[in-house]
Amino acid sequence: MEKQRGHVIVLTYPAQGHINPLLQFAKRLASKGLKATLATTHYTVNSIRAGGVGVEPISDGYDDGGFKHAPSVEAYLESFKMVGSRTLNELILKFKHSASPVNCLVYDSLLPWALDVAKQLGIYGAVFLTNSASVCSMYWQIEHGLLTLPVRPEMVPLSLPGLPPLGVSDMPSFIAQPATHSAYLAVIMEKFSILEQNDWVFVNTFEDLESELAKVMSGLWPLVMVGPMVPSAFLDQQIEGDTDYGANFWEPVGDRCLRWLETKPPKSVIYVAFGSMAEIAAKQVEEIAWGLKGSNKHFLWVMKESENEKLPVEFLNSIDETGLVVTWCNQLEVLAHQAVGCFMTHCGWNSTLEGLSLGVPMLAMSRWSDQPMNAKFLEDVWRVGVRAKKDEEGILRREELEMCIKEIMVGEKSDEIRKNASMWRESAKSAVSRGGSSDKNIDKFVEVLLVGRSK
Ligand code: UDP
Repeated sequence: MEKQRGHVIVLTYPAQGHINPLLQFAKRLASKGLKATLATTHYTVNSIRAGGVGVEPISDGYDDGGFKHAPSVEAYLESFKMVGSRTLNELILKFKHSASPVNCLVYDSLLPWALDVAKQLGIYGAVFLTNSASVCSMYWQIEHGLLTLPVRPEMVPLSLPGLPPLGVSDMPSFIAQPATHSAYLAVIMEKFSILEQNDWVFVNTFEDLESELAKVMSGLWPLVMVGPMVPSAFLDQQIEGDTDYGANFWEPVGDRCLRWLETKPPKSVIYVAFGSMAEIAAKQVEEIAWGLKGSNKHFLWVMKESENEKLPVEFLNSIDETGLVVTWCNQLEVLAHQAVGCFMTHCGWNSTLEGLSLGVPMLAMSRWSDQPMNAKFLEDVWRVGVRAKKDEEGILRREELEMCIKEIMVGEKSDEIRKNASMWRESAKSAVSRGGSSDKNIDKFVEVLLVGRSK
Protein backbone atom coordinates (compact mmCIF):
# COMPACT_ATOMS: atom_id res chain seq x y z
CA MET A 1 0.00 0.00 0.00
CA GLU A 2 1.42 3.39 -1.03
CA LYS A 3 1.25 5.57 2.07
CA GLN A 4 0.33 9.24 1.80
CA ARG A 5 2.90 11.22 3.70
CA GLY A 6 1.74 13.88 6.05
CA HIS A 7 -1.72 13.60 7.54
CA VAL A 8 -2.71 16.32 9.98
CA ILE A 9 -5.74 16.22 12.22
CA VAL A 10 -6.86 19.74 13.07
CA LEU A 11 -8.93 19.75 16.25
CA THR A 12 -11.24 22.70 16.83
CA TYR A 13 -13.34 24.00 19.69
CA PRO A 14 -16.97 23.94 18.48
CA ALA A 15 -17.63 27.69 18.24
CA GLN A 16 -17.90 29.77 15.06
CA GLY A 17 -14.94 31.97 15.97
CA HIS A 18 -12.74 28.88 16.44
CA ILE A 19 -13.89 26.66 13.59
CA ASN A 20 -13.38 29.44 11.04
CA PRO A 21 -9.62 29.95 11.52
CA LEU A 22 -8.83 26.28 12.23
CA LEU A 23 -10.76 25.01 9.23
CA GLN A 24 -9.04 27.65 7.13
CA PHE A 25 -5.67 26.44 8.39
CA ALA A 26 -6.64 22.87 7.47
CA LYS A 27 -7.54 24.07 3.96
CA ARG A 28 -4.18 25.85 3.63
CA LEU A 29 -2.34 22.70 4.66
CA ALA A 30 -4.34 20.58 2.21
CA SER A 31 -3.60 23.06 -0.58
CA LYS A 32 0.09 22.51 0.10
CA GLY A 33 -0.05 18.75 -0.30
CA LEU A 34 -0.87 17.41 3.17
CA LYS A 35 -3.91 15.35 3.94
CA ALA A 36 -5.94 17.38 6.44
CA THR A 37 -8.89 16.23 8.54
CA LEU A 38 -10.88 18.56 10.77
CA ALA A 39 -12.04 17.00 14.03
CA THR A 40 -15.03 18.62 15.68
CA THR A 41 -17.95 17.61 17.88
CA HIS A 42 -20.81 15.39 16.64
CA TYR A 43 -23.36 18.21 16.61
CA THR A 44 -21.17 20.60 14.57
CA VAL A 45 -19.99 18.16 11.87
CA ASN A 46 -23.03 18.82 9.71
CA SER A 47 -22.49 22.59 9.68
CA ILE A 48 -19.20 22.14 7.82
CA ARG A 49 -18.69 21.85 4.07
CA ALA A 50 -15.09 22.33 3.15
CA GLY A 51 -13.42 21.41 -0.10
CA GLY A 52 -10.24 19.37 0.20
CA VAL A 53 -10.57 18.69 3.92
CA GLY A 54 -12.10 15.64 5.63
CA VAL A 55 -14.36 16.17 8.64
CA GLU A 56 -14.65 13.67 11.50
CA PRO A 57 -16.57 13.79 14.78
CA ILE A 58 -15.27 13.36 18.30
CA SER A 59 -17.27 13.73 21.50
CA ASP A 60 -17.32 16.44 24.17
CA GLY A 61 -19.70 14.35 26.27
CA TYR A 62 -22.75 16.42 25.21
CA ASP A 63 -23.48 15.03 21.75
CA ASP A 64 -26.89 16.58 21.31
CA GLY A 65 -25.99 20.22 21.65
CA GLY A 66 -22.80 20.75 23.65
CA PHE A 67 -22.04 23.62 25.94
CA LYS A 68 -25.61 24.83 26.45
CA HIS A 69 -26.52 21.51 28.11
CA ALA A 70 -23.60 21.60 30.55
CA PRO A 71 -24.22 22.86 34.09
CA SER A 72 -21.20 25.21 33.99
CA VAL A 73 -18.16 26.26 31.95
CA GLU A 74 -15.98 24.16 34.28
CA ALA A 75 -18.15 21.07 33.87
CA TYR A 76 -18.18 21.43 30.09
CA LEU A 77 -14.42 21.84 29.77
CA GLU A 78 -13.83 18.91 32.15
CA SER A 79 -16.17 16.65 30.19
CA PHE A 80 -14.55 17.68 26.90
CA LYS A 81 -11.16 16.84 28.35
CA MET A 82 -12.21 13.38 29.53
CA VAL A 83 -14.45 12.19 26.70
CA GLY A 84 -12.60 14.23 24.07
CA SER A 85 -9.20 12.67 24.90
CA ARG A 86 -10.60 9.17 24.49
CA THR A 87 -12.52 9.80 21.28
CA LEU A 88 -9.71 11.83 19.70
CA ASN A 89 -7.33 8.99 20.47
CA GLU A 90 -9.73 6.55 18.77
CA LEU A 91 -10.03 8.79 15.73
CA ILE A 92 -6.27 9.01 15.26
CA LEU A 93 -5.92 5.23 15.69
CA LYS A 94 -8.65 4.66 13.11
CA PHE A 95 -6.25 5.92 10.45
CA LYS A 96 -3.30 3.89 11.74
CA HIS A 97 -3.51 1.11 9.17
CA SER A 98 -4.98 3.23 6.39
CA ALA A 99 -3.13 4.69 3.43
CA SER A 100 -2.68 7.88 5.41
CA PRO A 101 -1.76 7.42 9.05
CA VAL A 102 -1.85 10.59 11.11
CA ASN A 103 1.56 12.07 11.94
CA CYS A 104 0.55 15.41 13.42
CA LEU A 105 -2.20 16.88 15.57
CA VAL A 106 -2.86 20.61 15.40
CA TYR A 107 -5.21 21.53 18.24
CA ASP A 108 -7.20 24.56 19.27
CA SER A 109 -5.58 26.28 22.22
CA LEU A 110 -8.80 25.98 24.28
CA LEU A 111 -8.23 22.19 24.34
CA PRO A 112 -4.75 21.88 25.87
CA TRP A 113 -5.27 18.24 26.88
CA ALA A 114 -4.95 17.30 23.21
CA LEU A 115 -1.18 17.61 23.48
CA ASP A 116 -1.12 14.57 25.81
CA VAL A 117 -3.05 12.57 23.23
CA ALA A 118 -0.46 13.43 20.56
CA LYS A 119 2.44 12.63 22.89
CA GLN A 120 1.01 9.29 23.94
CA LEU A 121 0.58 8.28 20.32
CA GLY A 122 4.06 9.47 19.39
CA ILE A 123 2.95 11.97 16.74
CA TYR A 124 3.76 15.67 16.41
CA GLY A 125 1.66 18.02 18.53
CA ALA A 126 1.11 21.67 17.57
CA VAL A 127 -1.10 24.24 19.22
CA PHE A 128 -3.03 26.89 17.27
CA LEU A 129 -3.61 30.16 19.16
CA THR A 130 -6.72 32.07 18.15
CA ASN A 131 -5.81 35.42 19.77
CA SER A 132 -3.41 38.12 18.62
CA ALA A 133 0.26 37.60 19.46
CA SER A 134 0.08 40.74 21.64
CA VAL A 135 -2.69 39.25 23.76
CA CYS A 136 -0.76 35.97 23.93
CA SER A 137 2.34 37.86 25.02
CA MET A 138 0.51 39.06 28.15
CA TYR A 139 -0.39 35.50 29.14
CA TRP A 140 3.19 34.46 28.35
CA GLN A 141 4.50 37.19 30.70
CA ILE A 142 2.19 35.95 33.46
CA GLU A 143 3.33 32.36 32.97
CA HIS A 144 6.98 33.44 33.16
CA GLY A 145 6.43 35.47 36.32
CA LEU A 146 7.06 38.78 34.55
CA LEU A 147 3.55 40.04 35.21
CA THR A 148 1.64 39.28 38.39
CA LEU A 149 -2.12 39.41 38.83
CA PRO A 150 -4.15 41.23 39.91
CA VAL A 151 -2.93 44.35 38.14
CA ARG A 152 -2.65 46.96 40.90
CA PRO A 153 -3.34 50.67 40.26
CA GLU A 154 0.34 51.61 40.69
CA MET A 155 1.31 49.21 37.86
CA VAL A 156 -0.74 51.16 35.32
CA PRO A 157 -0.01 52.14 32.58
CA LEU A 158 1.56 48.78 32.17
CA SER A 159 4.71 48.72 30.12
CA LEU A 160 5.50 45.35 28.57
CA PRO A 161 7.99 44.43 25.83
CA GLY A 162 6.71 45.12 22.31
CA LEU A 163 3.36 46.53 23.49
CA PRO A 164 2.09 50.12 23.81
CA PRO A 165 1.48 51.37 27.38
CA LEU A 166 -1.74 49.72 28.56
CA GLY A 167 -4.44 51.01 30.88
CA VAL A 168 -6.69 48.54 32.70
CA SER A 169 -9.51 48.99 30.18
CA ASP A 170 -7.08 48.21 27.30
CA MET A 171 -6.27 44.75 28.64
CA PRO A 172 -8.00 41.42 28.04
CA SER A 173 -10.80 41.16 30.61
CA PHE A 174 -9.42 37.85 31.90
CA ILE A 175 -6.35 39.81 33.02
CA ALA A 176 -8.11 43.04 34.05
CA GLN A 177 -10.69 41.14 36.18
CA PRO A 178 -9.15 37.69 36.78
CA ALA A 179 -11.56 36.80 39.57
CA THR A 180 -14.64 37.13 37.36
CA HIS A 181 -13.31 34.82 34.64
CA SER A 182 -11.41 32.22 36.59
CA ALA A 183 -12.47 29.13 34.56
CA TYR A 184 -11.33 30.62 31.25
CA LEU A 185 -8.17 32.09 32.77
CA ALA A 186 -7.33 28.66 34.20
CA VAL A 187 -7.51 26.99 30.75
CA ILE A 188 -5.51 29.78 29.20
CA MET A 189 -2.80 29.51 31.83
CA GLU A 190 -2.78 25.74 31.46
CA LYS A 191 -2.01 26.08 27.78
CA PHE A 192 0.74 28.64 28.40
CA SER A 193 2.35 26.42 31.02
CA ILE A 194 2.91 23.70 28.40
CA LEU A 195 3.56 25.99 25.43
CA GLU A 196 7.20 24.98 25.05
CA GLN A 197 6.28 21.28 24.93
CA ASN A 198 4.57 21.70 21.58
CA ASP A 199 6.45 20.91 18.40
CA TRP A 200 4.98 24.09 16.88
CA VAL A 201 3.02 27.01 18.29
CA PHE A 202 0.96 28.64 15.54
CA VAL A 203 -0.76 31.97 15.93
CA ASN A 204 -3.35 33.58 13.68
CA THR A 205 -1.56 36.85 12.91
CA PHE A 206 1.22 38.10 10.65
CA GLU A 207 4.62 39.57 11.30
CA ASP A 208 4.05 43.09 9.94
CA LEU A 209 0.88 43.51 11.99
CA GLU A 210 2.67 42.92 15.29
CA SER A 211 6.19 43.75 14.17
CA GLU A 212 7.44 45.41 17.39
CA LEU A 213 6.40 42.40 19.39
CA ALA A 214 7.71 39.94 16.80
CA LYS A 215 11.09 41.70 17.05
CA VAL A 216 11.45 41.76 20.83
CA MET A 217 10.09 38.24 21.34
CA SER A 218 12.04 36.63 18.52
CA GLY A 219 14.04 33.73 19.91
CA LEU A 220 12.43 34.05 23.34
CA TRP A 221 9.15 32.35 22.66
CA PRO A 222 8.18 29.68 20.14
CA LEU A 223 5.34 31.50 18.29
CA VAL A 224 5.05 30.99 14.52
CA MET A 225 2.83 33.52 12.77
CA VAL A 226 0.71 31.97 10.00
CA GLY A 227 -2.24 34.30 9.49
CA PRO A 228 -4.47 35.90 8.68
CA MET A 229 -6.62 32.80 8.26
CA VAL A 230 -9.13 34.27 5.82
CA PRO A 231 -10.43 32.38 2.77
CA SER A 232 -7.99 32.68 -0.07
CA ALA A 233 -10.39 34.38 -2.52
CA PHE A 234 -10.33 37.51 -0.31
CA LEU A 235 -6.53 37.73 -0.09
CA ASP A 236 -3.94 35.78 -2.06
CA GLN A 237 -6.23 33.73 -4.33
CA GLN A 238 -3.84 30.79 -4.22
CA ILE A 239 -6.50 28.21 -3.33
CA GLU A 240 -8.98 27.63 -6.10
CA GLY A 241 -12.63 27.80 -5.08
CA ASP A 242 -11.80 28.93 -1.52
CA THR A 243 -14.50 31.59 -1.37
CA ASP A 244 -15.81 31.13 2.16
CA TYR A 245 -14.87 29.50 5.45
CA GLY A 246 -17.20 26.57 4.83
CA ALA A 247 -18.79 26.51 8.28
CA ASN A 248 -22.04 28.20 9.25
CA PHE A 249 -23.94 27.59 12.46
CA TRP A 250 -26.70 29.86 11.18
CA GLU A 251 -28.08 30.21 7.66
CA PRO A 252 -26.63 33.37 6.08
CA VAL A 253 -28.99 35.82 4.41
CA GLY A 254 -26.81 36.04 1.31
CA ASP A 255 -28.44 37.34 -1.84
CA ARG A 256 -30.64 39.81 -0.05
CA CYS A 257 -27.65 41.52 1.56
CA LEU A 258 -25.77 41.72 -1.72
CA ARG A 259 -28.79 42.97 -3.65
CA TRP A 260 -29.36 45.65 -1.02
CA LEU A 261 -25.68 46.67 -1.00
CA GLU A 262 -25.72 46.95 -4.80
CA THR A 263 -28.18 49.83 -4.52
CA LYS A 264 -25.88 51.87 -2.26
CA PRO A 265 -23.04 54.23 -3.26
CA PRO A 266 -19.39 53.25 -2.58
CA LYS A 267 -18.27 53.45 1.06
CA SER A 268 -21.65 54.67 2.26
CA VAL A 269 -22.78 51.73 4.42
CA ILE A 270 -22.00 50.96 8.07
CA TYR A 271 -21.86 47.20 8.57
CA VAL A 272 -22.75 46.32 12.18
CA ALA A 273 -22.04 42.87 13.66
CA PHE A 274 -20.95 41.63 17.05
CA GLY A 275 -19.85 38.08 16.31
CA SER A 276 -21.39 34.72 17.09
CA MET A 277 -21.79 34.99 20.85
CA ALA A 278 -23.10 38.51 21.20
CA GLU A 279 -25.64 39.11 23.89
CA ILE A 280 -26.29 42.80 24.09
CA ALA A 281 -28.45 44.48 26.71
CA ALA A 282 -31.77 45.76 25.37
CA LYS A 283 -30.87 49.27 26.50
CA GLN A 284 -27.65 49.10 24.49
CA VAL A 285 -29.45 47.79 21.41
CA GLU A 286 -31.79 50.74 21.62
CA GLU A 287 -28.94 53.26 21.80
CA ILE A 288 -27.22 51.67 18.80
CA ALA A 289 -30.47 51.66 16.85
CA TRP A 290 -31.13 55.38 17.36
CA GLY A 291 -27.47 56.25 16.91
CA LEU A 292 -27.44 54.54 13.52
CA LYS A 293 -30.67 56.19 12.55
CA GLY A 294 -29.39 59.60 13.70
CA SER A 295 -26.19 59.25 11.66
CA ASN A 296 -28.20 59.44 8.44
CA LYS A 297 -25.98 56.75 6.93
CA HIS A 298 -27.03 53.43 5.44
CA PHE A 299 -26.51 50.46 7.71
CA LEU A 300 -26.58 46.69 7.48
CA TRP A 301 -27.02 45.21 10.95
CA VAL A 302 -26.63 41.57 11.97
CA MET A 303 -28.88 40.83 14.93
CA LYS A 304 -29.00 37.15 15.78
CA GLU A 305 -32.47 35.66 15.93
CA SER A 306 -32.23 35.31 19.71
CA GLU A 307 -31.50 39.07 19.99
CA ASN A 308 -34.00 40.37 17.48
CA GLU A 309 -36.79 41.16 19.88
CA LYS A 310 -34.62 43.79 21.56
CA LEU A 311 -34.94 46.05 18.52
CA PRO A 312 -37.40 48.92 19.20
CA VAL A 313 -40.51 48.58 17.04
CA GLU A 314 -40.61 52.31 16.15
CA PHE A 315 -37.05 51.99 14.95
CA LEU A 316 -37.88 49.01 12.72
CA ASN A 317 -40.88 50.86 11.34
CA SER A 318 -38.78 53.91 10.54
CA ILE A 319 -35.80 52.50 8.70
CA ASP A 320 -37.18 51.74 5.19
CA GLU A 321 -34.38 51.64 2.56
CA THR A 322 -31.76 53.27 4.82
CA GLY A 323 -31.17 50.12 6.76
CA LEU A 324 -31.31 46.34 6.58
CA VAL A 325 -31.40 44.06 9.61
CA VAL A 326 -30.54 40.38 9.08
CA THR A 327 -30.03 37.44 11.43
CA TRP A 328 -26.69 36.28 9.96
CA CYS A 329 -24.71 37.01 6.82
CA ASN A 330 -21.56 36.06 5.00
CA GLN A 331 -19.43 38.64 6.76
CA LEU A 332 -16.50 38.46 4.37
CA GLU A 333 -18.71 38.97 1.35
CA VAL A 334 -20.23 42.04 3.01
CA LEU A 335 -16.89 43.49 4.10
CA ALA A 336 -15.52 42.99 0.60
CA HIS A 337 -18.39 44.93 -0.96
CA GLN A 338 -17.47 48.39 -2.23
CA ALA A 339 -20.59 49.93 -0.65
CA VAL A 340 -19.27 49.26 2.87
CA GLY A 341 -17.36 52.16 4.40
CA CYS A 342 -17.29 51.27 8.09
CA PHE A 343 -17.41 48.10 10.20
CA MET A 344 -18.92 48.51 13.66
CA THR A 345 -17.49 45.49 15.50
CA HIS A 346 -17.13 43.87 18.92
CA CYS A 347 -13.48 43.27 17.99
CA GLY A 348 -13.46 39.48 18.18
CA TRP A 349 -10.08 38.50 16.78
CA ASN A 350 -11.52 36.99 13.58
CA SER A 351 -13.65 40.04 12.87
CA THR A 352 -10.70 42.32 13.56
CA LEU A 353 -8.47 40.36 11.18
CA GLU A 354 -11.23 40.28 8.57
CA GLY A 355 -11.72 44.07 8.78
CA LEU A 356 -7.95 44.57 8.40
CA SER A 357 -7.73 42.03 5.57
CA LEU A 358 -10.52 43.68 3.61
CA GLY A 359 -9.25 47.21 4.33
CA VAL A 360 -12.43 48.45 6.05
CA PRO A 361 -12.27 51.26 8.67
CA MET A 362 -13.59 50.04 12.04
CA LEU A 363 -15.68 51.37 14.88
CA ALA A 364 -14.92 49.38 18.00
CA MET A 365 -17.46 48.47 20.66
CA SER A 366 -15.63 45.80 22.63
CA ARG A 367 -17.02 43.86 25.57
CA TRP A 368 -14.78 41.21 27.12
CA SER A 369 -12.02 38.64 26.65
CA ASP A 370 -9.36 39.84 24.18
CA GLN A 371 -11.71 42.37 22.55
CA PRO A 372 -10.64 45.50 24.52
CA MET A 373 -7.00 44.94 23.57
CA ASN A 374 -7.86 44.38 19.90
CA ALA A 375 -9.83 47.63 20.03
CA LYS A 376 -6.87 49.48 21.56
CA PHE A 377 -4.59 48.28 18.75
CA LEU A 378 -7.12 49.10 16.09
CA GLU A 379 -7.25 52.73 17.23
CA ASP A 380 -3.73 53.45 18.51
CA VAL A 381 -1.37 51.04 16.76
CA TRP A 382 -2.88 50.20 13.36
CA ARG A 383 -4.86 53.46 13.28
CA VAL A 384 -7.71 52.01 11.24
CA GLY A 385 -10.61 53.23 13.35
CA VAL A 386 -11.87 54.59 16.64
CA ARG A 387 -13.07 53.14 19.93
CA ALA A 388 -16.51 54.25 21.04
CA LYS A 389 -16.60 55.41 24.66
CA LYS A 390 -19.15 54.00 27.09
CA ASP A 391 -20.72 56.00 29.91
CA GLU A 392 -20.50 55.20 33.63
CA GLU A 393 -23.23 52.58 33.22
CA GLY A 394 -21.16 50.86 30.56
CA ILE A 395 -23.51 51.92 27.77
CA LEU A 396 -22.45 53.42 24.45
CA ARG A 397 -24.90 56.29 23.95
CA ARG A 398 -26.42 57.30 20.63
CA GLU A 399 -24.70 60.73 20.56
CA GLU A 400 -21.26 59.16 21.01
CA LEU A 401 -22.02 56.60 18.32
CA GLU A 402 -23.07 59.30 15.88
CA MET A 403 -19.85 61.19 16.61
CA CYS A 404 -17.69 58.12 16.00
CA ILE A 405 -19.47 57.39 12.73
CA LYS A 406 -18.81 60.94 11.57
CA GLU A 407 -15.18 60.75 12.62
CA ILE A 408 -14.64 57.59 10.59
CA MET A 409 -16.74 58.37 7.53
CA VAL A 410 -16.47 62.11 6.98
CA GLY A 411 -14.30 63.68 9.67
CA GLU A 412 -10.75 65.05 9.50
CA LYS A 413 -9.25 61.69 10.35
CA SER A 414 -11.28 59.72 7.83
CA ASP A 415 -8.80 60.01 4.94
CA GLU A 416 -5.94 58.83 7.09
CA ILE A 417 -7.99 55.98 8.52
CA ARG A 418 -8.96 54.81 5.02
CA LYS A 419 -5.38 55.07 3.81
CA ASN A 420 -4.15 52.98 6.75
CA ALA A 421 -6.91 50.42 6.24
CA SER A 422 -5.90 49.96 2.58
CA MET A 423 -2.28 49.68 3.61
CA TRP A 424 -3.06 46.86 6.08
CA ARG A 425 -5.05 45.05 3.43
CA GLU A 426 -1.99 45.00 1.16
CA SER A 427 0.17 43.91 4.03
CA ALA A 428 -2.19 41.03 4.94
CA LYS A 429 -2.31 39.96 1.32
CA SER A 430 1.45 39.79 0.99
CA ALA A 431 1.84 37.85 4.25
CA VAL A 432 -0.18 34.92 2.88
CA SER A 433 0.80 35.22 -0.78
CA ARG A 434 3.51 32.98 -2.23
CA GLY A 435 6.79 33.79 -0.45
CA GLY A 436 5.13 36.04 2.18
CA SER A 437 6.09 35.73 5.86
CA SER A 438 3.12 33.55 6.89
CA ASP A 439 3.23 31.50 3.69
CA LYS A 440 6.90 30.69 4.26
CA ASN A 441 6.22 29.70 7.87
CA ILE A 442 3.50 27.30 6.73
CA ASP A 443 5.76 25.88 4.02
CA LYS A 444 8.45 25.05 6.55
CA PHE A 445 5.96 23.11 8.65
CA VAL A 446 4.49 21.26 5.67
CA GLU A 447 7.96 20.30 4.52
CA VAL A 448 8.75 18.56 7.80
CA LEU A 449 5.53 16.55 7.63
CA LEU A 450 5.86 15.71 3.95
CA VAL A 451 9.36 14.39 4.34
CA GLY A 452 7.56 11.91 6.52
CA ARG A 453 9.96 12.08 9.42
CA SER A 454 8.09 10.29 12.14
CA LYS A 455 8.67 11.27 15.74
N1 UDP B 1 -19.65 36.02 11.11
C1 UDP B 1 -20.38 35.69 9.99
N2 UDP B 1 -21.61 36.26 9.81
C2 UDP B 1 -22.14 37.15 10.65
C3 UDP B 1 -21.39 37.50 11.82
C4 UDP B 1 -20.15 36.92 12.01
O1 UDP B 1 -19.94 34.89 9.15
O2 UDP B 1 -23.24 37.62 10.41
C5 UDP B 1 -18.33 35.36 11.32
C6 UDP B 1 -17.19 36.32 11.16
O3 UDP B 1 -16.82 36.41 9.80
C7 UDP B 1 -16.11 35.73 12.06
C8 UDP B 1 -16.89 34.94 13.11
O4 UDP B 1 -18.24 34.86 12.64
O5 UDP B 1 -15.26 34.87 11.32
C9 UDP B 1 -16.90 35.60 14.46
O6 UDP B 1 -15.67 35.47 15.07
P1 UDP B 1 -15.06 36.58 16.03
O7 UDP B 1 -13.73 36.09 16.51
O8 UDP B 1 -15.04 37.89 15.37
O9 UDP B 1 -16.11 36.69 17.20
P2 UDP B 1 -16.78 35.61 18.21
O10 UDP B 1 -17.96 35.07 17.51
O11 UDP B 1 -15.74 34.57 18.51
O12 UDP B 1 -17.14 36.46 19.38
